[in-house]
Amino acid sequence: MNMDNITDNSIIHDYVITHIDDAISNEWIKVYYQPVIRALTGQFCSAEALARWIDPEHGFLAPDKFIGALEECELIYKLDCFIVEKVCRELHEHILAGKPAFQVSINFSRLDFIKCDMLDMVEKNIEKYNIPRDYLHFEITESMIAQDEELMRDNIQRFRERGYEIWMDDFGSGYSSLTLLQDYDFDVIKLDMRFLFSMTEKSTEIVRSTINMAKRIGIKTLCEGVETKEQVEFLTLIGCGKFQGYYFGKPQPYDELLESMVSKNITLESRAWHNFYEI
Ligand code: C2E
Ligand code: MG
Ligand code: MG
Ligand code: MG
Repeated sequence: MNMDNITDNSIIHDYVITHIDDAISNEWIKVYYQPVIRALTGQFCSAEALARWIDPEHGFLAPDKFIGALEECELIYKLDCFIVEKVCRELHEHILAGKPAFQVSINFSRLDFIKCDMLDMVEKNIEKYNIPRDYLHFEITESMIAQDEELMRDNIQRFRERGYEIWMDDFGSGYSSLTLLQDYDFDVIKLDMRFLFSMTEKSTEIVRSTINMAKRIGIKTLCEGVETKEQVEFLTLIGCGKFQGYYFGKPQPYDELLESMVSKNITLESRAWHNFYEI
């Protein structure tokens, strides 16, 4: 049976919530990494960790099949804690094997912070696997803050004080974006891919103005969903800092990502140059 063929979402929902512990302990859940490219240099500067559930019985499950169910049942923290552990472990193992390590951004959900001391959990993992703090960035969304301002304010501040970057995901797709930019400190905003997908005169102006505004208030920018050369050229012209999208690579396992970057002649950014190139 392949889950892609099942149209009854409640079956998937029930399967996911009853099997999340098995999926974690048996490592059916994998981390796929999607490259982020720095506009100025064309180099590979970090990757986003995206969860994939490869079920022994039901095959490949994309996040839209399990994230929502886990959020609804307040079990998402189990997945997100596992992803942090697995990313740290994979970085550690690859460094030991003499392979290049890259910075990784990890997605969080609002309920993670209600169920768990996420900072404490992250700190335990980086200590265990000896990962420098600046190797991990954390992505949160506008709607997470809108729903729980106090909790999120406290967590954002604590993470940033420890030296972790906080990236705002899917910027422009939620609400109250501008007051959030005023009231909170984000290191990077990731523009929602819907603006790029429409590429009308209106949406390109929205992208241009958002990037301008972000620069003027000292926030770095990343455009998601970059799929074409034309988009890369346009975004470079208007000063977007980083790109992520199928044009440069789909999410894939760690080793495959490194191989695909080599085959595309995209080099990994040297950490020494990192600060120099931040814009
Ligand atoms: P997101 O964080 O905004 O991640 C970007 C999504 O866009 C990913 O979908 C990625 O595969 C897709 N994408 C990237 N480039 C392109 C492109 O050029 N074109 C198109 N059409 N799509 C592109 P994915 O992996 O299916 O993840 C969907 C969402 O699930 C993520 O959106 C994130 O909100 C959530 N998610 C994934 N992994 C985790 C996780 O470990 N924890 C939590 N809490 N959420 C996760
Ligand atoms: Mg994300
Ligand atoms: Mg996003
Ligand atoms: Mg998202």
